[in-house]
Amino acid sequence: MADSRSEAGTPDSSSDGEGGIRARIAVLPGDGVGPEVVAAGLQVLQAAMRLDRTLKLEFDELPWNSNYYRAHGRMMPEDGLDRLREYDAIYLGAVGDPALPFHVPVWGLILPIRQAFDQYVNLRPVRLLHGVRGVLRDAVAPDIDMLVVRENTEGEYAGKGDLLFPGTPRETALQTAVYSRHGVERVVRYAFELARKEGRPLASVSKANALNYSGVFWDRIVDEISFDYPDVPAETLLVDAAALYMVTQPQRFGIIVAPNLYGDILTDLGAGIAGGMGLAASANLNPEGTAPSMFEPIHGSAPDIAGKGMANPLAAIWAAAMMLGHLGRPDWEERIVGAIESVVERGACLTRDLGGTAGTAEVTQAVAAALSEAV
Ligand code: ATP
Repeated sequence: MADSRSEAGTPDSSSDGEGGIRARIAVLPGDGVGPEVVAAGLQVLQAAMRLDRTLKLEFDELPWNSNYYRAHGRMMPEDGLDRLREYDAIYLGAVGDPALPFHVPVWGLILPIRQAFDQYVNLRPVRLLHGVRGVLRDAVAPDIDMLVVRENTEGEYAGKGDLLFPGTPRETALQTAVYSRHGVERVVRYAFELARKEGRPLASVSKANALNYSGVFWDRIVDEISFDYPDVPAETLLVDAAALYMVTQPQRFGIIVAPNLYGDILTDLGAGIAGGMGLAASANLNPEGTAPSMFEPIHGSAPDIAGKGMANPLAAIWAAAMMLGHLGRPDWEERIVGAIESVVERGACLTRDLGGTAGTAEVTQAVAAALSEAV
């Protein structure tokens, strides 16, 4: 099946008019397994460039991670966002460090990038590949093949709130969920467009029974926009029901659109039913191309396996493929995802999370080799 999905946006890079692209990529390896899986993704992109001279990618590695924070008191330099803005795309590994509070790397690097660059679409494929034995016993490829469009700049992750009476017995945390008409409309419209383009049904997820302001508002906007897409079969689900159906009836879903928090949680569930964290990729898209988009595996820094050469590189390689799709080469996105699938289907070279014994390097090599075979 064609996987030219992340090219729904406008490419940031320049094209030579003959399908060739030239793009500068900021590489943020990050922490833990991040550098290991990013190296794997870069190796596969280099292999693609050797096979197709019209792909011209330049990479600049930026050492902004938790060690940088320890040395400088911040996750990136003060002008970090200005520097990133100069690139055509950002390729991120993972950030997180057991010695730091959870929110430091996330609020110091990832969320500022998503918000400053208006990467309002977080696109996460949930797809059970041929050859992967998923945890849902009865499901086999292509039963699980959905694409989650997560709102990525506001909702519960807008960073608005307060801590009242800190340090007293009356301590009270307020975390405000922000739902703007502009923010909801644009992501919902993106999802409808994608559903139309792919000829697939759309499920919108909210929690309008309990969240009488934000949930009802989200549903109302989805309802309004659905009138512009009479050809797209659409349904509205409560997030709890959506979680249940993802497990009991995964075939039901095509495109899912969800507010930030629900999208985050549902896509980890999605990773769970589609082969695990080692296979789950994501794109943070600025669909209009007014700032760079960012591509990353959805897993974290996995400190328990970091430095051992055993991390599954496939999610990061898949994210690199989505980057090529966004930059204007959906053919290469499809080819790389095809190479991933053929390695998984053969089953001879898999990391431990997929039941094999191979290391990161061997799996990466196998994908690069499969890419050459496919040409
Ligand atoms: P962080 O705090 O950075 O989010 P974490 O360990 O809490 O790190 P994840 O990194 O998402 O969260 O890891 C969750 C589990 O999945 C861990 O057991 C980890 O080893 C496993 N895991 C994550 N990524 C991979 C990978 N690429 N290959 C194999 N296993 C992975």
